[in-house]
Parts: sequence; C-alpha cells; structure tokens
Amino acid sequence: MSPLETELRARIEQDGPIGVADYMAACNAHYYATRDPLGRAGDFITAPEVSQMFGELVGAWLADLWDRAGRLADAAYVELGPGRGTLAVDALRVMAKAGLKPRVHLVETSPALRAAQRARLPRAIWHDDVSTLPADAPLLIAANEFFDALPIEQFGFGGERLTVALASDRFVRRGIVARESSPASLAVAAELGRRLKAQGGALLVVDYGYVGPSGGDTLQAVSRHAFADPWEGPGTRDLTAHVDFAAIARAGAGEGLHIVGPIGQGPWLEALSICARAAALARAVPSRREEIEAARARLTAPDRMGELFKVMAMIAPDWPEPIGFSRHRSP
Ligand code: SAH
Repeated sequence: MSPLETELRARIEQDGPIGVADYMAACNAHYYATRDPLGRAGDFITAPEVSQMFGELVGAWLADLWDRAGRLADAAYVELGPGRGTLAVDALRVMAKAGLKPRVHLVETSPALRAAQRARLPRAIWHDDVSTLPADAPLLIAANEFFDALPIEQFGFGGERLTVALASDRFVRRGIVARESSPASLAVAAELGRRLKAQGGALLVVDYGYVGPSGGDTLQAVSRHAFADPWEGPGTRDLTAHVDFAAIARAGAGEGLHIVGPIGQGPWLEALSICARAAALARAVPSRREEIEAARARLTAPDRMGELFKVMAMIAPDWPEPIGFSRHRSP
C-alpha cells in the first residue's frame, strides 16, 4: 500500500468521508510528484508527444496573434502544466522564427516534471500557481491537458456534494453523480481572465471535454494506456475529468474576455495548415513520411483526437481575432 493510500485511509477512518475534489487533488499531487507519466513507457501520450507539429502550430497561432497585436516586446510565454516541456520547446522554436523571443514562465507543481522541463528550458521561471505570474506584461498562455487534471466536485440529484468513504476496506464514492464542477479550474480561468484583461494577451486551452452539461460521471483513471478504476490505488494512476468548456468560458467572459471556440482539435489544426506542415516535414525527412502521416491522422481524425479534444481561446478585449476558429480549411 502506498504512503498516500495509508494516509487517506487514516484520514477517512478518523474524520469521516472526504469530498471527491479532496480525493482527486491528493491522488494527482502524489501521482505527478512521483513520476513522469508521459510516453509509451508511461501511462498516456499527449498531443505534443505525438508530434512536433502540435507545438509548432500552437507557437504559430500565438506568434500570429502577437504580431497583429503590435509585436509587444515584453510579452511572456506562459504554460500551465507543461509536462516534459515538449510543447514549449516546439512552440518557442516557431515563435523565435517570427521574431518573438519571450520570457518563459511555467506553472507546474510536480518536482519530477519540473526537472524534466528544466533540462530543456533552463532559463524558464517556475510557479506553483498562476498567482505569481508577472503582473506587468502581456501573457501568451497555453494549456494542453492541464484543466482535465484539476480536481472536480461531484453532486447528487438532490444537489448534495458527494463524498468518498471506505466500505469493506475499499474506497467508494457514495451516491450517484448528477453533475460535476471544477472550482479549481474556474478559479484559474477567472484569475487569468483578470490578468489578460489588465495586461493583454490570450489563453489557449486544449483539452478533452464537453460544451453542454455533462449529465453524469466523467471522472476517469488511466494507467499504462488503459482505463482503470479511479477508486483503487490512489496516487498510482492518472485521474482526469472531462473539461466543462462552457463553464470555463463563462469564468473568462465574466472578466471581460472575448471567447473563441471551442472547436474540435482536428478542424483547428487543419485550419492552421497541419497538412502543409506534415508535407514539408515529410519532404525534409522522407524516411519518416509514414510516421508523420500517422501522427497527423492521430491528432486530427474525428475518431482519434480530432473531435473529443477541443480548442478554445480567451482573448484580451483589445487584441485581434485569432486564426484557426473558422470552419474554412486552408488549401
Ligand atoms: N501539457 C503536457 C502535460 C499534461 S499532464 C502535455 O500535454 O504533454 C498534466 C500536467 O499538469 C503535468 O505537467 C502535471 O504535473 C501538471 N499539473 C497537474 N496538476 C497541477 C496543478 N494543480 N498545478 C500545476 N500543474 C499541475
């Protein structure tokens, strides 16, 4: 039994059942602090780890917005939950080609992943949460599969907050889930909304999730690339919940931001010319043509990551309209 499991059992035995968000927060803090979960040898693979094309197009999107906003010299690149730093490295390479060389600020709680990020981004500045981000510069913020890892509360049909208890020595959530919400996600969205309104910039959210009400339980555990039981082995598997895009949009709009999307990751990447990027990469490295094509399909196909994963942007009030969100595909 892991130290976290022993601790959670003792806590519930002494003080009674705990909230779902408390359970999820404790599990994920332990999970991310004790491993690098990304990649084939780990538990799951994210879009930046599928192909460099993902981070490059995020970088192109941010650079374009920054360019049309007037090429502000003091703009900072911010990433929430940067994993291995792959997205940042790919995005910053493209931004540099466009003349954008921002300071890098990473919001990351895991010591293990901070070490991986430091190896690739030695000059970055790390933050435990968004409250310490620079307050005097426009912020170009990316968050891929960050919000899905933040804790959710679950509520029953009578509106009651559901809790996690021990029954026959196992963790069980008591009650049936009628709805969920992620107060932690909404707090981040509102805080970044206030910052962006005051400082300028944009937040690009890429995650899997829904736009209307979820109508049930979306809490899931993943271990070694397969679904697992979220109530077993706390802290040893990745716990996530579908992101409620409408709720995050409301939190940002409430602060005065312009919300664009969400649209599917597939159409968004296609509008940003992922096909042309894949063709150029394949021309440069013909031996990797099939691999590049497979990665493009994985990122964009509706039955892979193209539809469940969604892209939404929150833009500072006087900043330009972003590219990629019209359904028209570039040739
Ligand atoms: N964006 C990366 C990693 C996604 S995994 C990618 O796409 O590959 C989730 C990331 O969020 C990890 O880096 C994890 O350590 C970080 N994270 C999870 N909860 C966090 C929290 N509460 N605050 C800051 N970072 C967190």
